[in-house]
Amino acid sequence: MSIASFLAAARAVVGKDHVIESPDGLAPFARIMMPVPEAEHAPVGVVSPQSLAEVRALLRLAGEHKTPLWPTSTGKNFGYGTSTAATPGQVTLDLRRMNRVIDIDPVLCTALVEPGVTYKLLQDTIRAQGHKLWIDFPAPGPLVGPVGNSLERGNGTTPYGDHFANTCGFEVVLADGTVLRTGMGGVANTKSWQAFRYGYGPWLDGIFTQSNFGVVTKMGLWLMPAPPAWRSGMAVWDKFEDIGRIVDTLRPLRFDGTIGNCGTLLDSTLFAASTAKRADLYSGKGAIPPSVTLEYARSKGLGAWQYAFSVYGRPDRVASDWKVIETAVAASGGKLVPDAYDPMQVGELSLQTFSIFNWTGGHGLAWFSPVMPLRPTDAIRQVELARGVMDKHGVDFMTGMTLNGREGLNVMPMVFDRGDPDSTARHRACFEELIQAFGEAGYGFYRTGVGFMDQVARVHGETQMDVNRRLKRALDPHGIIAPGKSGIHL
Ligand SMILES: Cc1cc2nc3c(=O)[nH]c(=O)nc-3n(C[C@H](O)[C@H](O)[C@H](O)COP(=O)(O)OP(=O)(O)OC[C@H]3O[C@@H](n4cnc5c(N)ncnc54)[C@H](O)[C@@H]3O)c2cc1C
Repeated sequence: MSIASFLAAARAVVGKDHVIESPDGLAPFARIMMPVPEAEHAPVGVVSPQSLAEVRALLRLAGEHKTPLWPTSTGKNFGYGTSTAATPGQVTLDLRRMNRVIDIDPVLCTALVEPGVTYKLLQDTIRAQGHKLWIDFPAPGPLVGPVGNSLERGNGTTPYGDHFANTCGFEVVLADGTVLRTGMGGVANTKSWQAFRYGYGPWLDGIFTQSNFGVVTKMGLWLMPAPPAWRSGMAVWDKFEDIGRIVDTLRPLRFDGTIGNCGTLLDSTLFAASTAKRADLYSGKGAIPPSVTLEYARSKGLGAWQYAFSVYGRPDRVASDWKVIETAVAASGGKLVPDAYDPMQVGELSLQTFSIFNWTGGHGLAWFSPVMPLRPTDAIRQVELARGVMDKHGVDFMTGMTLNGREGLNVMPMVFDRGDPDSTARHRACFEELIQAFGEAGYGFYRTGVGFMDQVARVHGETQMDVNRRLKRALDPHGIIAPGKSGIHL
């Protein structure tokens, strides 16, 4: 059995125009921003089905031909691997042709979509139907879609920013072609598939996220009723040492719902990377000193930390919540910058965060994404730990933290020139050392990209790896679906 024989058989299922195996055709699917060689993750073919029936047929064929398939929805997992696989030699199962918005329910505020649906398509459809519903998206919203993002447990910035928490019901094809509808989806003529997540018995949805146990072909998600009023703002603190105080100030406001959204806390270097070119600010050796970006931020009326947040609801509630926040921020030594807002927090698609690629040029990006317990001690420790390791490797420390009640997703973009082999090698070594250092300090990860999945899985423990392997053997005994995803092997 060979890949070539699988691809030949796949042609009969999806049509010859939807199978790629030429080096030129494969090149865009091998592109990767991570600091790892393309060859370690390059696909050997791409197959693009259009229907559930075609996905089932392809999985059956893959089983017969022992061909590994790496499913992608919109395939733009930028900075985590784009559409590449954890290991080389897999066939990309590109689901972009399955792009139907199957249902929008304006009463229950839910949608049911296929994997190829982008946030833009979903938003356009909602607006064309005249519904006053918002969707929450990650920063690359116009290009990417809810299925791939939610399966990675990605995040956005409105109150619906925890994307997996706002999914409701999956349709999953298992390796043997079985079609499972999770939650309430198994009930004949189900009326509540997108209304209630848990169904009856064990709740299975979680095992199909960040995993390789099935191919998701439909997903339900919840939409946010457009609020009657909202106000967005930015709180600024001047000094890096303020981080502990910031965490203590914002945590209670998230707990009691005063700040209802998943706001983001940026340090001055991420602000600089989003608005300037590195070479214009610094020409010295090594990582850019924080004093340089702090001075730049101050010149723009900002400081060491800026927190973008929004309040939503009835106008009287918006006004009173705003006052509470203003008072709390001032008491902690910060200030509010009026009329500064992030369009994503109010349901407007934007690609403005892509300006980060201008920092160095060369399209290198890897997100180092530990989970930060929302205690001052942990916030200070994580910043010091990361900065220490990054300084050693000459890597610029910057972070954009999504702050929730108990935890923050401390997402640190490592931006570098992929055309520079020395820089790429330094960023790889740095990433590996960071995983080790954070693991040893008792921290785990929200998500990681190809190239680092095994190492991150080990941080999360041998027992978890073993249980994942047992599930894999039970559901996909030939290891057809995405071998190596999240460190899960047969
Ligand atoms: C400037 C910038 C800003 C970003 N900001 C954010 C942000 O705010 N929030 C955020 O979450 N991300 C962010 N990202 C990272 C990334 O681009 C997004 O997470 C994006 O949504 C992921 O790509 P995708 O949706 O195309 O998923 P895909 O690439 O389609 O899928 C991701 C992975 O999920 C699995 N998968 C996908 N579909 C299926 C399926 N149907 N069945 C089984 N497994 C599947 C596969 O392992 C796949 O590789 C950012 C990237 C950039 C460059």
